[in-house]
Amino acid sequence: MAEDKQEEKEPEGPIPCSPCRGTGKLNSNSGGEPHLVDCPWCEGSGVFIPEHDAQAARRPEGEPGDEKPQPAVD
Ligand SMILES: [Zn+2]
Repeated sequence: MAEDKQEEKEPEGPIPCSPCRGTGKLNSNSGGEPHLVDCPWCEGSGVFIPEHDAQAARRPEGEPGDEKPQPAVD
């Protein structure tokens, strides 16, 4: 008979991160030479994080930033 096939329902398991394809690493060309860096979207876990802002890793919201970029006035 009919198998227990779920209809178009996404699994609630971990979703592989798209930018790094679930590897947790991204190839960055910054600096001139290609090198692997931790994927900012999944924080190197390789698992897609819903509503995760990659830029939030650099500027955590709600917390006072220790390092403030100050304009070099000379
Ligand atoms: Zn990733």
